[in-house]
Amino acid sequence: MSKLNDAINKQYNFEIESAYLYVSMAHYMEEKGMSGFAHFFLKQAHEEIEHAEKMSHYLFSIDEKPTLEAIKKPQEEFGNFTETFKAAYEHEQEVTKRINELYDFSIEENDHKATSMLQWFVDEQVEEEDSFRTLIEQLERVNESWAGLYLLDEKLGQR
Ligand code: MG
Repeated sequence: MSKLNDAINKQYNFEIESAYLYVSMAHYMEEKGMSGFAHFFLKQAHEEIEHAEKMSHYLFSIDEKPTLEAIKKPQEEFGNFTETFKAAYEHEQEVTKRINELYDFSIEENDHKATSMLQWFVDEQVEEEDSFRTLIEQLERVNESWAGLYLLDEKLGQR
């Protein structure tokens, strides 16, 4: 496997690791009785698996077999509700950094098909970060009040 494809395979694994983290956040929310927030994080986890699948399909389509690596045990406690969403946002910023590095690497390697595949991820990260920023702004306004939290929980349960 080329260095670039190997790096794509690493990101493939990191997308699955992201899903694992969001499942852990869903458990944390469920335990606190916030089923809407839990639903939101489970949906987020499903999206991460779809991201991973986009990368594995790409690798298979260029005749490379993706490799699954060991996934580290995710954190289980994330602080209050605002802090939990902030932790998710920070995770997405890390994903963006890694996607941008991969994108740059594909350009250095003149691998147009990889650049094209990664363009989708560059765009997707703009949306991911925007959605978490919006939620954090709403959570900060609510300031951990139960009335506000239950309204947001209700809203995210319908996502
Ligand atoms: Mg992702």
